[in-house]
Amino acid sequence: MPLHTRILIGLVVGVVGGSLSRVLFGDHPLLQSVTTYVTEPVGRLFLRLIFMVVIPLLFSALALGVAGLGDMRTLGRIGLKTFTYSLVVTGISVVIGLTLVNLFRPGAHLTPETRASLQQSMTTPAPPPPAASTENPVLRVMMMIVPDNPIRAAAQGEMLAVMFFSLMVGIGIAMSPRAKVEPFIQVLEGLYEVVMRLIEIAMRMAPYAVAALLFTLTARFGASVMKPLLAYMAVVIGGLALHLLVTYSVIVRYCGMHPGFFFRQINEVMTTAFSTSSSNATLPTALRVAQEKLGIPRDIASFVLTLGSTANQNGTALFEGVTILFLAQFYGVDLTFGSQVLVVVVSVLAGIGTAGVPGGSLPLMVPILQSVGIPGEGIGIILGVDRILDMSRTVLNVTGDVTAAVYVAHSEGRLPPTPETEA
Ligand code: ASP
Repeated sequence: MPLHTRILIGLVVGVVGGSLSRVLFGDHPLLQSVTTYVTEPVGRLFLRLIFMVVIPLLFSALALGVAGLGDMRTLGRIGLKTFTYSLVVTGISVVIGLTLVNLFRPGAHLTPETRASLQQSMTTPAPPPPAASTENPVLRVMMMIVPDNPIRAAAQGEMLAVMFFSLMVGIGIAMSPRAKVEPFIQVLEGLYEVVMRLIEIAMRMAPYAVAALLFTLTARFGASVMKPLLAYMAVVIGGLALHLLVTYSVIVRYCGMHPGFFFRQINEVMTTAFSTSSSNATLPTALRVAQEKLGIPRDIASFVLTLGSTANQNGTALFEGVTILFLAQFYGVDLTFGSQVLVVVVSVLAGIGTAGVPGGSLPLMVPILQSVGIPGEGIGIILGVDRILDMSRTVLNVTGDVTAAVYVAHSEGRLPPTPETEA
């Protein structure tokens, strides 16, 4: 049985078991012992196994992600265009997500008492968000992002600073003579591989851990604590749909292509992305369709789509942004406007650092949550429903890559005319 099905079963077992126990036993000491000594430790162990590899993962994924963009000096016009386009459009997708989540507040449907006890029961207290100070907020954020000592930043869980350091290492690699830094790249690739295997091992525990985490949650607070989860899923899917139908339509329209024609031609790409949940696995289909059905020149298609499959992940960025805010609402962590701007930045970065594989964004989720002061254990809540969201965001990731290729081809004056109608 595929892992995601088992995790979903874990979710159902945990929620049903926990809610029933709550109804049957209430605050009986026996149930309290079960949650304190059995289910909670199982969930926490799983989370700690993931936390354990967060720093090496972040470092290797981001450094390799940027280094993989190629030599900055020779990347040239097309590279720069693709990268800028990607940053802007990913930014738009995150803003759409954040607007929806602020509007509908899916995580806020909890009684104040439940939230208060939730806060008390946080098992992994997150580092407090930066204290308000009289210093200029822009300056403060800049100082938070640039570490004076990367090791100390890592030890103190200052994820933004670690991200910045990793990005700079990636840029340094890209600017160095390849022969000299090749061994270092191999070390990073090795580290990344090892981390992936460790996450795989931890993920084998996931069905049980999700069951345990949700049992603990519902046994303590009752089934109503789960309602926000459905609202959250609706917001993610709504945001993705909006970005897909509005933003992409406007962009292809700007490039002189009828949106109906565009979506009809790339239908196959979207269904492949949905069924595989992987941008990498969809790359061959995307390459073929972009050239054969949209007439994008081969050099542009292969460059933009390959780069995009890892570095241009609009759907993933939107998902990360919504998830951070949802969990902040859920745990009652107040995110100021300044912190929300940070959320946009880290979500866009996550779009660059996420591997185009099923569930690729989950490992990065934990450090990102912690960077804005939300307990990393929140990941346990969303893990159970992630597969369906993963399938949906991957559609956006890949459609976003094809849209980028259309844009770049158009801006280079190399997009062949297409029918003015949907046909
Ligand atoms: N599954 C996504 C992709 O391949 C990555 C993720 O967001 O998990 O594009």
